[in-house]
Amino acid sequence: MEKELSFYPNVQLQILDAQNNSELQQQQVKELIRQRVDLLIISPNQSGPLTALAEAAYNQGIPVVILDRRTTSKLYTAYVGGNNQEVGRTAGHHAAQLLRQRGLVLEITGRPGSSPATDRDLGFRQALSNYPDIKLVAQVQGNWQPTSVLKQLPAVLRAHPEVNLIFAHNDPMAQAAYQVARQMGLTQRIRIVGVDGLSGPGNGLQLVENGALDATLLYPTGGEEAIRTAMRILRHEPYLKENVLGTMVIDSTNVATMRTQTEQLASQRQDIQLQQLRLKAQLRRYATQETTVYLLIASLLGAILLGALAWRSLRLNWRTQRTLEGQNAEILAQRNQIEQLAEDVRRSAEAKLRFFTNFSHELRTPLTLILGPVEDLLTSPSELTVAQRHDLKLVRRNTQRLLQLVNQLLDFRKIDVGKMAVRATQGNLVAFVREIMDVFEKNAHRRNITFRFLPAEPVINLWFDGDILDKVFSNLLSNAFKYTPDGGRITVSIQRVVAANTVRVSVEDNGRGIAEADQPLILGWFYQGSQPSPDGSGLGLALADGLTRLHEGTLSFRSQPGHGSTFDVTLPLTKPATFLDAVPHHSYTISAASLADDEPAELAEEVAPARTDITVLVIEDHEEVRNFLIQKLQPHFQVSTATDGATGLRLASETIPDVIVCDVNLPELTGLEVAAALKGDWRTSHVPLVLLSARDTPEQQLEGVQAGADLYLTKPFNPAFLLESLRTLLRNRDQQREHFRRELSVDTATVAPQRVDQKFLADLTAIIEANLDRPSLSVDDIARSLGVSQMQLYRKVKALLGTGVTDYIQSLRLTKARLLLLQEGSAIAQVAYQTGFSSPSYFATLFKSKYQVSPSEYKALHTPTQH
Ligand code: ADP
Repeated sequence: MEKELSFYPNVQLQILDAQNNSELQQQQVKELIRQRVDLLIISPNQSGPLTALAEAAYNQGIPVVILDRRTTSKLYTAYVGGNNQEVGRTAGHHAAQLLRQRGLVLEITGRPGSSPATDRDLGFRQALSNYPDIKLVAQVQGNWQPTSVLKQLPAVLRAHPEVNLIFAHNDPMAQAAYQVARQMGLTQRIRIVGVDGLSGPGNGLQLVENGALDATLLYPTGGEEAIRTAMRILRHEPYLKENVLGTMVIDSTNVATMRTQTEQLASQRQDIQLQQLRLKAQLRRYATQETTVYLLIASLLGAILLGALAWRSLRLNWRTQRTLEGQNAEILAQRNQIEQLAEDVRRSAEAKLRFFTNFSHELRTPLTLILGPVEDLLTSPSELTVAQRHDLKLVRRNTQRLLQLVNQLLDFRKIDVGKMAVRATQGNLVAFVREIMDVFEKNAHRRNITFRFLPAEPVINLWFDGDILDKVFSNLLSNAFKYTPDGGRITVSIQRVVAANTVRVSVEDNGRGIAEADQPLILGWFYQGSQPSPDGSGLGLALADGLTRLHEGTLSFRSQPGHGSTFDVTLPLTKPATFLDAVPHHSYTISAASLADDEPAELAEEVAPARTDITVLVIEDHEEVRNFLIQKLQPHFQVSTATDGATGLRLASETIPDVIVCDVNLPELTGLEVAAALKGDWRTSHVPLVLLSARDTPEQQLEGVQAGADLYLTKPFNPAFLLESLRTLLRNRDQQREHFRRELSVDTATVAPQRVDQKFLADLTAIIEANLDRPSLSVDDIARSLGVSQMQLYRKVKALLGTGVTDYIQSLRLTKARLLLLQEGSAIAQVAYQTGFSSPSYFATLFKSKYQVSPSEYKALHTPTQH
């Protein structure tokens, strides 16, 4: 069956072995029916028990092939098997031939009731009936089993000793019969015939070959035929219902051929099995190859798909790139165009600016040439009508303004092209700012503006360019005064910003402030905001900003419209590398003087540009003389004037000039009375006074000197002599100051020849000394104890001693400290605190800078060595 099925690889064969047990076979068939196999091949163990089941399967539509043994029913699809009657008949005829138609025969049957046993017996008897001399003498029921033959046969043979032939229904029983015959010594006489003729050891063919059996009848089991029939049925091809297989006799004459044939068959079968295995292996390989191929195809398809996608996106990319490239080129072209345009604009702006600059330069000379003669006309005692004079002043004011504008423009240009270098010297910024503020003080006074200075420390040393910073601070102050109403408040403060290593100068006013909308723009050139000032130009802040940046600083501001503005200038404390060293000069020309002094010409009789900061007050009622004086003094001093004694006194005590020139013949208050008042007031008592008089009697001169005049001149006087006298007076005052500085102590008598001044200095010194140990002692405190304003105190001290109040306090502290250091057992730290220094190290620094030795060295130098 398996050999035949190897031609049908799609058919599955399931073989169940009932092991000669009909009950087991029934169960097996039932199970197969339940599984609904496609075709059932049954070889019934016994016909009876299997008939019903075979019918049932057949009725359920399962084709049933009965193999080898029959059921009792005709309800089956096909039968394949040998013809057992034929087998029996052939056996009978062969037996007769062997016995030469004469003899006694014994039959060993299979299981009674099984169809082969019945049919074989039937056929055998039929054949024998043809031979009258052959007799069937006995029958043994072998039940297909050799053992039962071995048990029964000896007795039967003993009962029939003359038996010549034994026919067994199968080869195993035949072999058992041979065994018995040999034991009984009957082999020579008894012929034995079996059925089956199977190959293989101990089977029929071998038994015939070695002479145990005389013959065996080939009984084909029909396995191959059963499968062929089954396949025809399954394929719906024509088939035979009854397939009866023939038989043949195998005896010594053909057994060898048979064996070779069967052996050949077996080897062929083996070959086939081998082929089968190979085929299976090939199939398996094929299957795996198939899957590989499928996978390959699938991946190929995937690859093609991906390739297509890639191609598509590549093309897309390519197209996008081309558009981008186009756009890039366009942008590039546009950029070049813009650059070209910008370059053109820059060049044309540059050309315009150059034109303006050159133009401004050209303006300067004619402006100066206008200003000179106008000044001359105004100062000469010529016959000018009031209207002419007024007009000339107008010309002068506006020429000055034009000059200032031109100068600012040139400065701006210098910053712009980077031509302006920062030429720095090291100095005290506090003192510097104070000097600039001085210029504005008169203005503040006149307009009743509270003008305060709040330096956080008395000395802040840094490298700066005085010319640049002068313009910056003057512009800021000028703006503050311009946009602050009379009676307002302007405060300048200075403090270090330690974290940033900078110093900040703030100019704060409580004026009209800057409108929100203007704030981002006011640092721009020519921007004047929504409420321009009539005498503004919009250049000041831009210049201040540019100059501050040139100075490596920053200008910033905050402002609340209606409440005021604060401008902060922040400067580096350490010298930036871009700064050049300048030849040191100690006094800066206050170029902004005219800027600050925006008094209308009608009020202050004569205002002209001053070249120094030395102020002279002229008190003279006669206009011509006054103008003459102004003309002569103006090139050397800042001149202010009064036309009567009372105004003169008020101006003197308010502004505290450096020197006063006063006429004796004044209406109402005479010059002598003015002199007495000046010398009696401690604020003005130190100011040198020159009296002028037409009268020239020795008594009068004496009168004047008694009244406190430092000099008495009679008219007409020599202007050069007057100038020289004024210089001498000022020099004397400087010498006094120098004396103070050299002596490091205040001998009030030497410094101030005037009694009033001596008293003032004594009072001042007493107040300071009483509070020397307080580090917080401020100028404001002292001014309040003396009942004067800070500004008045400052001016007075500056005039008398040539230093600021703070410096004076400091020198007193140091003088006291020096004395204390000389005392035995004094500790430096203790001395520092006793003299009001906030820390011993600060004390040591200042001490060393003043005396060139440190406090400890000083102490060591002056303490007698111990032996
Ligand atoms: P101007 O010559 O007009 O004062 P600036 O450049 O100095 O030109 O100032 C520009 C503008 O900024 C001024 O016109 C004014 O509107 C405003 N401004 C400047 N400083 C102040 C201030 N302290 N208070 C109010 N407004 C100010």
